[in-house]
Amino acid sequence: MTDQCIFCRIARGDIPSDMLDRDHTAFVIRDINPKASTHLLVIPLEHVTRIADFKVDGGGLLGHMMLMARDAARREGMVESGYRLVINQGPDSGQEVDHLHLHVLGGNRLGAMG
Ligand code: AMP
Ligand code: ZN
Repeated sequence: MTDQCIFCRIARGDIPSDMLDRDHTAFVIRDINPKASTHLLVIPLEHVTRIADFKVDGGGLLGHMMLMARDAARREGMVESGYRLVINQGPDSGQEVDHLHLHVLGGNRLGAMG
């Protein structure tokens, strides 16, 4: 946890969010500025900036985030229509929030990746 990080503040309940799911490891919210009809974020409770900054093997956490995304996508009715999972990493990706998060995008036909 950090004092200034917006996702840590959401995790603490200091900032309101549309929280769809939460467990001992991570939580799922709706993105405040959606880039698709359905745009969710899977966010670990622990403050990790990027995958490169894992101090221990982060495979378990990443796998858990993927499965939370899968379950959230199912609840949103996107299993058949499909969806995209994205993790931005650093400046060239346009990462704005320096707290690891997994985007879940769907609900409409998505544009090409670029
Ligand atoms: P990224 O560019 O990968 O770092 O994505 C950060 C995402 O966080 C963006 O899609 C923002 O719209 C989203 N975001 C920022 N602040 C909030 C917030 N308070 N609640 C929900 N989503 C947020
Ligand atoms: Zn944080």
